[in-house]
Amino acid sequence: MDTKKIALVTGGSRGLGKDMALNLAKKGLDVVITYHSNAAAAQETLNDIEAEGAKGLALQLDARNVSTFDDFKNTLVTELKGQWNTTNIDYLINNAGFGHEGSVSDTPEEAFDDLVNVHFKGVYFLTQKMLPVMNDGGGIVNISSGLARFSFPGYSAYAAMKGAVEVYTRYLAKELGERKIKANTVAPGAINTDFNRERFEQAPQVVDMIASLTALGRVGEAEDIGPVVAFLCTDDAAWVNGQRIEASGGMFV
Ligand code: NDP
Repeated sequence: MDTKKIALVTGGSRGLGKDMALNLAKKGLDVVITYHSNAAAAQETLNDIEAEGAKGLALQLDARNVSTFDDFKNTLVTELKGQWNTTNIDYLINNAGFGHEGSVSDTPEEAFDDLVNVHFKGVYFLTQKMLPVMNDGGGIVNISSGLARFSFPGYSAYAAMKGAVEVYTRYLAKELGERKIKANTVAPGAINTDFNRERFEQAPQVVDMIASLTALGRVGEAEDIGPVVAFLCTDDAAWVNGQRIEASGGMFV
């Protein structure tokens, strides 16, 4: 049996998830990533994982559609058996997602439902489905946002989902302690990925504004987040549990 630890990173094709996957590979883990529609980007991430000397696998997942999760799990287990001679993963990183900007007055119900489905319901039930195929002693990292701590007009629905994920994570830590599975949240500040591309391109002054609100004086990059998540998936972080770790360069401190 392969003794390398295996991490599953949702939304590993681009942005933060890609950097998490590469840092996990650098730390000696094998990595399964998921993508939604961008198979080419997922393949590029796989190539980079393999260039780090780790084994990788990319699977399609629509994180908003809980009814597909059983099929996803079955495909995952088949691939794990074939390629790793195991049925289990060690770490689950719930990262996949997208943003939505809209004031309380303007947010349509459809946008709210979409956010719930991907950012909260998807995280809740993907974790539920993965628990039987997770090794005891492993860990879960859920990706939240600085916006769950501080309030920025226009993000009420998105931020509320992240707040829910933070509460969920503490419950996971409590309930999974008997299996020695840790659960933590990583909360990035504003990061320069596709997630913010349109906004940053259309209103470059937003970049300066965010930099001025950040103690370290700049917007974050994906490389600021991946190593934090990868650390939580090592034995060095074995005693870190039920925590919210913000990586925002000190936004609104
Ligand atoms: P990106 O837009 O760069 O990447 C999004 C990733 O999620 C892609 O891999 C994409 O797959 C995948 N994805 C999108 N929608 C779905 C879906 N319905 N089902 C499955 N996968 C999906 O975003 P980031 O990397 O910036 O964001 C990652 C996480 O970090 C999100 O949870 C976000 O809320 C959070 N975050 C981001 C911040 C930021 O400023 N960037 C700040 C704080 C938190 P594909 O490539 O196939 O489209």
